[in-house]
This record gives sequence, structure tokens and C-alpha cells, in this order.
Amino acid sequence: MALMTPEQFEESLKDVKPRVFMNGKRIESVLENKNTRTVVEANKASYEWALDPRYKDIMTCYSPLIDDVVNRYTYVSASNEDLVKKANAGTFTAEMLGTCIYRCVGYDSFHSLAATTWEMDRDLGTEYNPRFLEYLKMVQTKDLSVAGALTEPRGSRSKKTLDWKDPYLSLKIVDKNDDGIVVRGAKINISGAYASHEMVVMPQAAHFKGEEDYAVAFATPVDAKGITFVCQYTPFSAERDMADDPEELGNPLYGERETSMVIFDDVFVPWDRVFHCGEYKYSVKLVTRFAKTHRMTCGGTCKVGFMNQIIGASKLIQEYKGLEKATHINEELAEMVVLRETSRACGLAAAQKGAEEPEGSGVFLPDELMGNVSKLNVCNAFWRVMALAGDIGGGLLVTMPSIKELDNPEVKDYVEEFYSFGSDEPTKNIMKVHKLLQNWTAGLHGVGTWHGAGPVMAQKIMLQRVINYDHEKDLVKRTLNIKDREKKND
Ligand SMILES: Cc1cc2nc3c(=O)[nH]c(=O)nc-3n(C[C@H](O)[C@H](O)[C@H](O)COP(=O)(O)OP(=O)(O)OC[C@H]3O[C@@H](n4cnc5c(N)ncnc54)[C@H](O)[C@@H]3O)c2cc1C
Repeated sequence: MALMTPEQFEESLKDVKPRVFMNGKRIESVLENKNTRTVVEANKASYEWALDPRYKDIMTCYSPLIDDVVNRYTYVSASNEDLVKKANAGTFTAEMLGTCIYRCVGYDSFHSLAATTWEMDRDLGTEYNPRFLEYLKMVQTKDLSVAGALTEPRGSRSKKTLDWKDPYLSLKIVDKNDDGIVVRGAKINISGAYASHEMVVMPQAAHFKGEEDYAVAFATPVDAKGITFVCQYTPFSAERDMADDPEELGNPLYGERETSMVIFDDVFVPWDRVFHCGEYKYSVKLVTRFAKTHRMTCGGTCKVGFMNQIIGASKLIQEYKGLEKATHINEELAEMVVLRETSRACGLAAAQKGAEEPEGSGVFLPDELMGNVSKLNVCNAFWRVMALAGDIGGGLLVTMPSIKELDNPEVKDYVEEFYSFGSDEPTKNIMKVHKLLQNWTAGLHGVGTWHGAGPVMAQKIMLQRVINYDHEKDLVKRTLNIKDREKKND
């Protein structure tokens, strides 16, 4: 079986030496730094579940490519059933972690690359698809964690790429030779890449003739020469840095969501890892195919898992406070469940309505309309769920003292007594549940959910491109017995 144990995964990361900076300092080991460690733990869990008989149907599948069982996060969907399993895996991993599974953007990029390399080869006679499949075989056989990088700093949005003062605000090919290409530029907001083995890089700003050097997709080890990671640093990072015991934190093991900027300072990529190079008309296809796949995931699957964490904590607080009979709280909890199920339904519909794309490629992608609807729907639904949780949680969600006070002999008894809600539950547990909910309602996830997989306007633009109103217009004409319009002058 091509599956690593969690221990082998951790061991394998010791051989990967990315150049990482956080809070003004170099991180020598992503395995040891308290913040980067959360990403290691989240990815590590995906190896553990794949070997756990309880979760193997969700986390693994058979890959004809290598004739073996592989981690689902290294597999390209080949049927609607696969897409549904992909959706279920998104929910499962998110609810188990309470944060990102950092293999997800790479997984979604694989879908887009498999479809679009096949299409380029068919249309242009290139040989990207066999190259990509060789790469995927290697990923599956070695069971690698692969992150995905698409988003770029970009220059003035009112100008075309070639008119930017700084041409490197989008990742650009700066050299090509017999052995490969050299790229310069950066990707921003990239989830968990420094604790992965590999990163697949997708284009963002290539649309027009003349922009061929921006039309590039490839795979690289995260510690290739010239790659630097500059990590996010938030109040939650500082809190984790200062914590004596992770138990004081809202998500002790897996943390908040960790991203970084990734700089490519003349990074060499050998040809066997280049999957798109100059064919600018196909860059948009790579992006939109990634987008609909990732929007199904981000909209209709992983946020369902996050909502389960929020609903669970809200329900526990209701019980601690003796509010089981409070009608408005029960209504709020029910509203959360409705929002969760609506989100889930969108994700599953995107999977079930998915189709082989392009026909003959063997690659199944989610339905474009529902993929985008999934994400658009969850943007507001998620804020609403957090608002409802905020009401149930009360002011303590943002006013609570440190859980450390329970070990402080001077105030321990006060805190024990006055935050007990008069319940039988140990105060420590009550505080921990509040802390978890603080992580969500006053944390990074609201904006993260809004922007991850693209801000709402990106989905609205996409929807306007794909919606076709012919069916609706025909229905009305049929109801009113209106014949196809004859020109007035005829
Ligand atoms: C937690 C998190 C994890 C992420 N992980 C990844 C990852 O792993 N890999 C990856 O590639 N990306 C990742 N992203 C990036 C994510 O896809 C982007 O943040 C998102 O697409 C928004 O881009 P931006 O942040 O540059 O915001 P902007 O694009 O600057 O958006 C800000 C506002 O400007 C508007 N705007 C932007 N451009 C235009 C325009 N041309 N015309 C009109 N309005 C415009 C937008 O609609 C929005 O209202 C992640 C983001 C987050 C928050």
C-alpha cells in the first residue's frame, strides 16, 4: 500500500528544509516551531486517518494509475461517486481538525491540471498530460503532501498585467533552457505549504497574447533553491507563542489557519515538472477548473465541518447555562443547522451534478454553477452561524480571562465559582469550550472563509458567465402560449 504512517510522514519532513520566516525570525524547524507545528499536526492526521479502519473509505481510494490504494488527497476524481467522496472527505477532515487540511489546494489543483493538460495535448499536440501523470504517480507512490499556490500579489487591478510597473507581481518565466525554466515572483496567502513536501503552482494573471511568460504551471519541492516562505503572524500566533500549555488555546493541536507568502527568486524547474508553459489561452481554463473544484470544497464541504464545531460548542454552552428551554436559543441552533445543511446540499449537488471534463479525459469536475453557488452561499451563511454562536456564547466569548487563572492561587477560587454557571461541569471545561468558540467568532475564519477560494465578486462574475436563462424564458412562453418572436416589421 502506498500509504505512509503518521510517524513516517513526520520523519520524511525532517529531510525537507524550507527557508521559512515568521515574526521577523528564521524558523529552523517547522516541526518544532509552535505555530508551524500546527500545520504538521493537521497534515499528519491525514496519514493517521488513512490507516484507520474507521476512516479508510473516506480517506483512501484505489488508484488505477499505480494499481494501489492511495490517500484520497493524491487522487483525481474519475466519477461522480469520487466527487461525492471528495466532498465527504472535505467535511470529515474539517470537522476533525477544526482548521484546514493543508493538502486540499494541491488536491483541487490536481483535478484542474489533469483536465487541462489532457486538453492542451489534444488541441496543441503538447505532451503535458503524460508528464503530469508521471508526477502524480510519484506523489501517490510516495504518499506526498502537496500544497497549492495560485494567488499572487498582482499590480494595479485597473491595469493589464503587461502595464504593471513591477512585472514580477505575477509569477513570471524569466529563462528557459534545455533543462527547464526559471521563474521569478511570488504567491500569497498559501495554506500550509512549508509543512508539505511539494507545491503545485498555477497561473493567475495570464489572459492575453503577449502574456505567455505568465502562463505557467509546475510542481516544485518546497525547499527548492530560491524559494522563501514569509508566514502570517496574527494575535493568535503570538498567543500560541506565549502559551505555556496548548490547553489554554482554542484549538490546542491544530490551531488557526496558517498561510504564508511564497517567494520564487529565480527558481529552476526541470521540464518534467512543467505542466503549462506559454499557452495563455489555457491559463484561464486552469484557473476556472481549479476554482469550481475548490469552491465546492471551500463552500459546500469544509465549512460544513467547521459549522459542526461551532454548533457543538454553542449547544454545550446552552446546556452549561441551563438554557435548554430558551425558545430563541433553540431557534438559533436550528437556524445554524439549516445553514449547515444548505451548505452541505450545495457541495453535494456540485459533486453529483459534476461531469467528465473535457469529455474523454476521464477527469470528473464539479458542476460549475453549483461549485460557485456553494462558495457564494457559504460566505454569508458562515458569518451568520458565527453571529448566532456569538449570541448564545455571550460576552464571555470575548471577555474571558486566561484559563491559566485556574492555576493562580490568588484568584483560582473566584474564577472557578463565577464562571461555573452553577453547573456540575468543571469550570475548566466550560472555559475551554468558550475559548474554542472565541477562536471562531473572534478569530480569522470569517474573513478567511470569505476570501479563501476567491471573494464573492469572483463567484458572481463566474455565475454571470455560466447562467443560461433560455430554459426559464421558454417556460414562460410555453405557459403564455407565446410563439417565437416575429420581428415587428415582418
Ligand atoms: C485563509 C486563506 C487561505 C488561503 N489559501 C490559499 C492557498 O492555499 N492557495 C492560494 O493560491 N490562495 C490561497 N488563498 C488566497 C485566496 O484565494 C485569496 O485571498 C482570494 O482569492 C482573494 O484575493 P486577495 O486576498 O488578493 O484579495 P483581493 O483580490 O485584493 O480582493 C479584495 C477586494 O478587491 C476586489 N477586487 C480584486 N481585484 C479586483 C478587480 N480586478 N476588479 C474589481 N475588484 C477587484 C475583490 O472582489 C475584493 O472585494 C487563501 C486565502 C485565505 C484567506
